[in-house]
Amino acid sequence: MRIDWMFFSIKPSTIISSLCYSVFRVEPYSSCLYGCIFCYAKWYRKGLEMNSSQILNAWKSLARRLKDVDLPPPVFRLSTLVEPFQDKLEMKNRIALRILEIADRYEIPLIINTKSDLIMRSPWIDVILKLSDKNLVLVQVSIVTTNSNISKALEPGAPIPQRRLALIERLRDHSVPVVVRLQPLIPGIENLQLETAKEVLSYGALGIIVEPLRETRNGLAKIAKAIGIAPKSYLNNHLWKPYSFSSSNQGLLYPDIEWRKRMFYELFTLTLKFGKALTICKDGLWLSFSIYNADCCQSWHIKRTHAMRKTLYECLISSKSRFPHIYLLSYGDFQKYPRVIRRALRLHYNKLIKVLNNKKLLRKLIITNSSHAK
Ligand code: SF4
Repeated sequence: MRIDWMFFSIKPSTIISSLCYSVFRVEPYSSCLYGCIFCYAKWYRKGLEMNSSQILNAWKSLARRLKDVDLPPPVFRLSTLVEPFQDKLEMKNRIALRILEIADRYEIPLIINTKSDLIMRSPWIDVILKLSDKNLVLVQVSIVTTNSNISKALEPGAPIPQRRLALIERLRDHSVPVVVRLQPLIPGIENLQLETAKEVLSYGALGIIVEPLRETRNGLAKIAKAIGIAPKSYLNNHLWKPYSFSSSNQGLLYPDIEWRKRMFYELFTLTLKFGKALTICKDGLWLSFSIYNADCCQSWHIKRTHAMRKTLYECLISSKSRFPHIYLLSYGDFQKYPRVIRRALRLHYNKLIKVLNNKKLLRKLIITNSSHAK
């Protein structure tokens, strides 16, 4: 079976191609049983269904070929569209486990994004510790809030937040690098989310990644109910602005620039107090907050040398990697990688160049991230 580049890469778009360093992914499943009401991954899963042997064969073949490339491997995200360690699916099928084993065997760096503490159990933890010993892994634990009632209403199928806090602590006890994805940032529960940020840092998280909510009107009404606010007044709040970078045509709304700036500033100050980093995902405002580089996945915690694509940050602010173990890819490097990687890198590069050549779009992306740019 000929594998399309899309199985291993996020689709190019104005936001992703301009801001995202970690565009490569491996998805063990094509559905997610956690049923989070704010989940937008569901819009992007279509067309990516493969059976388990196709996924594993394709991943193994790609990993083997990457091992032979004369440049460092890129980082892959496990995963971007589903929870990779959903107990019911993973206990039976063990596809995510096999993906970890292949990454270990061919020394491919992985960013694991999870809400599940299944990974603390053997055999999953054994492979994660092996990857960690080889500096090949970063675990991103995803949490919206540590308030159990609100978490239950927002993410009904996911493990309770206290189990995720314990996961952070136990992985850090084993010296596995862990950061927290505090996302989505939701207007109406700001104080709870600031408290959550403090908690995850005190449990040992090395940094925090945030991403503001993007939702349809219907989705916002459901979220309002879940957080105990009357949907009508929630929707009438003037802070919602149209999100103009959506490729899914869903009519998404997004918190306005003032709300986002305020939240980012408070979280930024808080993480600095702990001596940790805050990074902001899929928001051009990030370029003004970034002090290290703009890699919002915080992949610098993966200490093994790895390759990353360049983004707007390298085009506009600094072309050099701040971390000696992160190799920034030039256009000429792309051809050295297997077809699926090469093709994705070129498509993202072309999109990035288009953004750079469109001053109006560039301004909108960096300054407001909304359709209200003057
Ligand atoms: S765990 Fe992630 S992919 Fe699964 S439903 Fe929740 S937000 Fe969506």
